[in-house]
Amino acid sequence: MTVGGSSADEARYRTLSLWWDGLDGPIRPRPALGADIDVDVAIVGAGFTGLWTAQSLLAADPSLRVALLEREVAGFGASGRNGGWCSALFAASDARIAREHGADAARAMRRAMQSTIDEVANTVAVEGIDCWFVKGGTLVVARNAAQVSRAKDDVADARSLGFGEDDLRWLERPEAEQRIGATGVLGATFTPHCAALDPARLARGLAEAVERLGASLYERTTATAIVPGHGSERPLVRTTTGSVRADVVVRATEGWTATLPGQRRSLVPLYSLMIATEPLGESFWADAGLAGRETFSDHRHLIIYGQRTADGRLAFGGRGAPYHFSSAIEPGFDRVPRVHAALRDTLIELFPALSDATITHTWGGPLGVPRDWFSSVGIDRGSGLAWAGGYVGDGVATSHLAGRTLADLVLGRDSELVRLPWVGHRSRRWEPEPLRWLGINAGLWATRTADGTERRRGRPSRLAARMDRLLGH
Ligand SMILES: Cc1cc2nc3c(=O)[nH]c(=O)nc-3n(C[C@H](O)[C@H](O)[C@H](O)COP(=O)(O)OP(=O)(O)OC[C@H]3O[C@@H](n4cnc5c(N)ncnc54)[C@H](O)[C@@H]3O)c2cc1C
Repeated sequence: MTVGGSSADEARYRTLSLWWDGLDGPIRPRPALGADIDVDVAIVGAGFTGLWTAQSLLAADPSLRVALLEREVAGFGASGRNGGWCSALFAASDARIAREHGADAARAMRRAMQSTIDEVANTVAVEGIDCWFVKGGTLVVARNAAQVSRAKDDVADARSLGFGEDDLRWLERPEAEQRIGATGVLGATFTPHCAALDPARLARGLAEAVERLGASLYERTTATAIVPGHGSERPLVRTTTGSVRADVVVRATEGWTATLPGQRRSLVPLYSLMIATEPLGESFWADAGLAGRETFSDHRHLIIYGQRTADGRLAFGGRGAPYHFSSAIEPGFDRVPRVHAALRDTLIELFPALSDATITHTWGGPLGVPRDWFSSVGIDRGSGLAWAGGYVGDGVATSHLAGRTLADLVLGRDSELVRLPWVGHRSRRWEPEPLRWLGINAGLWATRTADGTERRRGRPSRLAARMDRLLGH
């Protein structure tokens, strides 16, 4: 049995993100699995998906035997490194869900995502997790004519599905500028359905909460195979230090899914990278606004995202890091100087007063992307295997919805959650290499190019429209 960890391990975990660096107390891995065990539910991966699932299951039935298996430590993955947007964003658009499942299903999915923000607030309060949760909404600014047109389309789409001003509204330039003092603001959309939080404090607090509820959490325990059950044979997880037999095995490995046997082409790991400034003074915030700790972005194609942290920093991130051949994941990919420098330039372009501010932290991590960009949760009763993920970059709240949905599915409870359109969705597999590498990196290039064209010419890029059609958005 492995217990504890060295100070080198602690230093490694602290460099995972601004949030990990700010955690109180020593970071010591919990004991690894040291024997073959038998449980009711085995969960592979202790990020938000695994942790919310354990929490929902045990809240529903405290007698369940639940084991979590984590190859590093709880919150090591995207869950402890993200932008801290606990938002109602869902990877597939409302329009697409309406097209494929009908308008009622699209409305139900959106309402479920919106109410999830309050469900997270409730869990955090009940479990006493101090993660600096503040529900201030999201401001997405428009900084050129193409972005204005896209922002107004978003509002029109929301209205056509029956969502009102309380869900999404357009702010004219004076109001937008008053709420966020960024350069070039022509207007903004505002939704109240988002909270800013510290994701590592949430993940670490949740890990303690699920242990209090009775779950066994084995860290430094890598699942090497998930073996489906068949007939009377129950599914099994093989790990480096023992095996776990269970009635149900939940796969909650998101960006790492491709490393499991048989899953190489189900989700690709795409990297999102972030930077954080030093704590900024009152005079900066007097101009920059974000007084309600609204999370913020703009309407460009290549996603950027920011939050004003509880200690007065700007934590700011974006996509754009390359996809690595054969879905490779390596610690070295968390930091790409070119991408981190581009993020700093973008942040200074938005807030020129930051040109002398020190960037104290740079980091990144892999998120999981399904071929059709459609997140899913489900269970296969024949094999006893369940899964959730493929959130692209919107997993903080979606994983909470997944956890509650998995609890209903595992316990065989009929509920509104198990009828949502993402339940049981199967994405087709990604192409084999080298097509996957060529296609994804060409897509990233096209997205960057489309933003440049829109900045120069002001009108929506035809390349971006073609990309959207290709991805079925
Ligand atoms: C830089 C960045 C910024 C982001 N910003 C946001 C944001 O602001 N808002 C938002 O909603 N989403 C954001 N996301 C996405 C969000 O963080 C994820 O969708 C979410 O955390 C996924 O949670 P998860 O538990 O499914 O996956 P993860 O947190 O990645 O957890 C998977 C876990 O499985 C473990 N694991 C993997 N393989 C094995 C194995 N074989 N055996 C045992 N354990 C294994 C890993 O170590 C990891 O701890 C961001 C992601 C990144 C990388």
